[in-house]
Amino acid sequence: MIEVVSEARCISCDICVRVCPADVFDAVPGAAPLIARQDACQTCFLCELYCPTDALYVDPNGDGPTNVAESEIETLGLFGSYARAMGWKRGQPGGADLDPTFYIRTAMGENRS
Ligand code: SF4
Ligand code: SF4
Repeated sequence: MIEVVSEARCISCDICVRVCPADVFDAVPGAAPLIARQDACQTCFLCELYCPTDALYVDPNGDGPTNVAESEIETLGLFGSYARAMGWKRGQPGGADLDPTFYIRTAMGENRS
């Protein structure tokens, strides 16, 4: 369940508001979005994945509000941890660049369109 939106990290881009399939957030002009409908959260992690500043924390085990503090999540290094675990890398080349099968297939002539 979504637990924290970091005021310190958020740049008010509202991407999380747009990608959330459950309409959990309310946009707040010039400020971090509000977790307005926490009970509707499906723990899908889309907001955490798409946030450009790792400002969101979704508790993978939380069935309800845990009231965890932003400072605790920061101390534990959990902001953006799901995205990192999934291989999403902010501002770095994508993992597909390291995939050797593309080069092997190109050498075998399988990538021609
Ligand atoms: S996606 Fe991240 S930076 Fe953008 S509004 Fe949401 S929490 Fe803030
Ligand atoms: S985890 Fe999914 S359902 Fe929950 S707030 Fe984020 S995007 Fe919305």
